[in-house]
Order: sequence, then structure tokens, then C-alpha cells
Amino acid sequence: MPRPHDQAQSLYYDSPRYASGPAPELVGGTGRHAVVIVGAGPVGLCAALTLAHHRVPSVVLDAKTSVGEGSRAICIARHSVEIFQQLGVAGRFLGKALPWTDGTSYYREQPVYRLRMPHGPDERYYPMYNLQQQYIEQYLVEAAQATGLVDLRWGHALDTLRLADDMAVLEVDSPEGRYRLHAEHLVAADGARSRVRHQLGLKLAGAAYEGRYVIVDVRMRSDYPTERRAFFDPVANRGATVLVHKQPDDIWRIDYQLRDDEDEQDALAEREIRARVGAIVAMLGERAPWELEWWSLYKAYTLCLDEYRHGPVLFAGDAAHLVPIFGVRGLNSGLADAADLGWKLAMHVRGRAGPRLLDSYTPERRGATLDVFAQAGRSTRFMTPPTRGERLVRDAVLSLAAGHACARRLLDPRQSQPYSYAASPLTTADDEGSAFDDGPRPGMALANARLDDGAFLLDGLGREFTLLAFGDAAPRDADRAALASAAESTGVDLEILHLPAGTPAASRCGVGAGGVLLVRPDRHVCARWRHLDVARVSEALDRVLGRMPA
Ligand SMILES: Cc1cc2nc3c(=O)[nH]c(=O)nc-3n(C[C@H](O)[C@H](O)[C@H](O)COP(=O)(O)OP(=O)(O)OC[C@H]3O[C@@H](n4cnc5c(N)ncnc54)[C@H](O)[C@@H]3O)c2cc1C
Repeated sequence: MPRPHDQAQSLYYDSPRYASGPAPELVGGTGRHAVVIVGAGPVGLCAALTLAHHRVPSVVLDAKTSVGEGSRAICIARHSVEIFQQLGVAGRFLGKALPWTDGTSYYREQPVYRLRMPHGPDERYYPMYNLQQQYIEQYLVEAAQATGLVDLRWGHALDTLRLADDMAVLEVDSPEGRYRLHAEHLVAADGARSRVRHQLGLKLAGAAYEGRYVIVDVRMRSDYPTERRAFFDPVANRGATVLVHKQPDDIWRIDYQLRDDEDEQDALAEREIRARVGAIVAMLGERAPWELEWWSLYKAYTLCLDEYRHGPVLFAGDAAHLVPIFGVRGLNSGLADAADLGWKLAMHVRGRAGPRLLDSYTPERRGATLDVFAQAGRSTRFMTPPTRGERLVRDAVLSLAAGHACARRLLDPRQSQPYSYAASPLTTADDEGSAFDDGPRPGMALANARLDDGAFLLDGLGREFTLLAFGDAAPRDADRAALASAAESTGVDLEILHLPAGTPAASRCGVGAGGVLLVRPDRHVCARWRHLDVARVSEALDRVLGRMPA
């Protein structure tokens, strides 16, 4: 990721320097740990924080001694902010990020489509926020340090890995010397070039897309609101596309596609970048001076592992999958991997899980990856049609969009949504014929809607499982006692949250008076019933903990 030739540092961000002392294993420690995480990128940190949230310690190794370089992922979806809330970092994130709901698509010089993502007064968070990835990493590092449960080892790089006796055995290089770790569970969150993947001889499989894009950050003062602008065949990049996003600190992301006849090396020369960006800034009608911050070349892939679990090793984030950035699903899906894996590993380490809980990680999160491939693959083909026929159709849609609503619908990029675990072995399906009005079906994530007292649904969830009880009357003491004893015999915490009818949150759940809804620690619904039956709640808890036969 180059910077301008006269600039070693970022124009706006002072990278923190992290240090850690000698590994305990170099001074007589045992070297055996329940969970080791390779990679303190956003996904590894999010996994460590989720484990700490469930009171499980971890060791986190990272080869570097700071946060990642450059802004990288900048668009964070609402469901990721909900993960941040559960990990206690949403406040810092919201204090810096720029919220947005709208976007405009242009064909040549004409605005042809206005995007408006659904956002009502009963939502806590906006559908999308822009914030540079290095800030997110910094907030996650500081939150991890504050838990006292995350042993962050900066400058410690995994060199070799082997599996022996159901354990992962790691050889780690650190500034003070080489040492060995034994991990009962190893989370591979070591990014796109994963060394863990390489050491296990595993390969990502899938497709590569044609388009090449130059991603540039510039500093420029502009009052233009925060929204997504997409230009197709614009005057500043004929025959190709340009995307523009605002970031905090007067930083703008300009993402332009290279035409097929352009040479990559020439296109990445600083002089060429300045010329292209200058033309785009002029097209945007901006008159203020601008400065180059950094740039990078990007190609879209849909690649993933066949299995995300290999014995004690669990892959998450870019180590498990590479997805196109169009539709903002790269980092957002990595964070969801960590949220899913974190609670499952915690239950496993604390002896609460059955043999099938960790097995559910691949179907749930690889299923999510394949869904992202379908969505993001469509967006990528729209940005860079791979055939002449697809380009003709794309251009026809764009030219018709200004005057025809049916064409505008084809331009609507489907918003990044949490994946539904409806098909997961952990999910209890609705009873046959139990027609619910609406609301999240088993497997879906709860909407973080408003409660009566101005708080929101996620504020009331327990650390582990939560039973939402709907209706005017709160659950009877006898039911509460029976539920408490069911939870105790299962070995998990079960919070009971009563939702009176008429609150926006109760209406969004669509269960109706007397009904109940069981929620997993990662706020996905795992079962719902028209009436409370404690035996069925117990059974659903056993299923969601992976204790039921397949
Ligand atoms: C130029 C660029 C632009 C992008 N733009 C977007 C975007 O707009 N939207 C989006 O959603 N996504 C975007 N992405 C993707 C997004 O940045 C990634 O999805 C995200 O960083 C994945 O996080 P991760 O934690 O899985 O991996 P990483 O962030 O890559 O973190 C991996 C960590 O592992 C560490 N590590 C690696 N090897 C070892 C080892 N042997 N030992 C110890 N530590 C090791 C690394 O130092 C690193 O800290 C972009 C990526 C790039 C490169």
C-alpha cells in the first residue's frame, strides 16, 4: 500500500506502537492454552473479546506491532455495530464514525438512481457507518487490553504448526526468541495469506473476477454529505466505474476501475494516480485543494475453504474466505464469524457444549460465505460486466433507470444483512401450523428495536441465552423458577426478558401475547413457541448447545 514519495506517515492517523514482554514460555511457563488466536486483525481481536465476554482467556499472536496499515474496510453495517455493542466498543465507534442511509448512482453525467436504505425511528443504529479500519482495530485492542483476559503478544509470529494428540503445536518467533505453544483450540485469523492455512496444506477454492480497481484515499475539505456515490461510464473514467465515500478526518475514498487495456504498474505510478484523482475530483465539482493519503490495487475474488474447522483449528475472516468488497461484506462477514465462533468456543472450553456445537461452525459460517458470494458476485458483475452481453444489459438498465421504476429496482444493491441460521442443526424449527404474524424466524438475528423505556432490545439481553416472554402479564414466579432450574441443569445462564405488548420491540418480534422466543448469545433466534413449555425450552437449549444427536 504505497504512500506519496515525500510522506512516510499517514496525514491523519498516528499508528500506536504496541509492545509485549518475553513470552511466559521463555521463562518457564507451561505453553499449554485452551485458546490461541493467530492474528490481531479485527477478526482475531473480535474473537478474543467474545471469548473474554464469556470469561474465557486467550493468547493472541500478531507478527506486527501496531494496527494494520491504511484505511482498508471503511463501510460497517448495522449488524456489525450490534456486535460491537455486545463487546463494549460501540460507544467509541459511534463517537467517530459517519452514519449514512443514502446513495446516488450516475450513468454518464445523469443521476439515475437514488438509494435509500430502510431506517426508522425505532432503530438504534443507522444501516451503515463509515470509519477507517485502523480506528476499529485500535478500539478493539484497547477493549481487549481492558478485559485482563487477552494475552496480546505483539511481534510474535507463527512460524510452523502441526497437529498432534488433538492439539495444535505452534512454533512462534518473538523478539526475545523462539518458543513453543500447545493449543487445545487454535483460531486462524491470520488474514488472506494465512500461514496456518499454508502450514496445514489447505487451499481456498472459488473464482476470480476480471476487474482491477485502484483504491485511493485523499484528504480534502468538502461539505458533501456522507452517502455512497457510484458513477458508471463517467467523464473522468470513460468505459469504467468510480465509487466515492466520505470518511472521518476529511478523508475521501476514491475507488476507480482500470480499463482492460491499462497496465497495472503504470496505473500505480504516483504521477498517474494524481492525474486520475485530479480528474475525478474535478468531476465531483470540488474546488478545495486535496492531498494523497495512500493507495492500493484491488481485485475481486470469491474464494473460501471447503471446511472452516480442521480438528482443533478453526478459520475465521480473510483466512477462511475472500469476498468482493462491493456490498461491504469483507470485514462485516469476518466480524460475524468471530461472534459465532466466540460463544461456541467459550461454551466448549467451559464444558457446557455437546460434541456437535463446534461442528455447527462450518455450516453456519460457510453457509454465510456462500450467501455473500451470491450477493457480492452479482454486485461485482454489475460493476464489471464480464461479457459483452452482460455489459449491454447493464448499460440498458442504467439508461432506463432515470425514467422507469422497474429498471431502478435492478440497481438496488441488497443491503448486507446477518445470515439466517435457519438450516443449522442448532436451530429448532417452528411447530407445524404455528402461524406467526411476522418477526424473526428461527435462525435469524433479532432486530435491535426500541423498548418502552427508551432502551433497545439488545440492552436487555443476557450474556448467554435469553428468553423473551411476550404479553401484558410478566411470566409467573412458578414459570421463572422452572426455567431457572432448567437452565441450571443445562449449565448455562438464561435471562428472562418480559416484553409488554405494544412496544416497538414486541411488535417487531411478531410472536403475540403468551408466546416466547429463545435467543442465542450472538442474538440469533434459536426457537419460538406460541406458549411457554419449560420442557421444550430445555430441549431447545440442549439442541443449541450441540448435545442432541444429529
Ligand atoms: C486495500 C484493501 C481495501 C479493502 N477495503 C475493504 C472494504 O472497503 N470493505 C470491506 O469490507 N473489506 C475491505 N477490505 C478487506 C478487509 O480489510 C478484510 O476483510 C479484513 O481486514 C479482514 O480481517 P482479518 O482480521 O480476517 O484479517 P487481517 O486484517 O488481514 O488481519 C490478519 C492479522 O494476522 C496477522 N498475521 C498474519 N500472519 C501472521 C503470523 N504468521 N503470525 C502472527 N500474526 C500473523 C497480521 O499481522 C494481521 O494483523 C480491504 C482490504 C484491503 C487490503
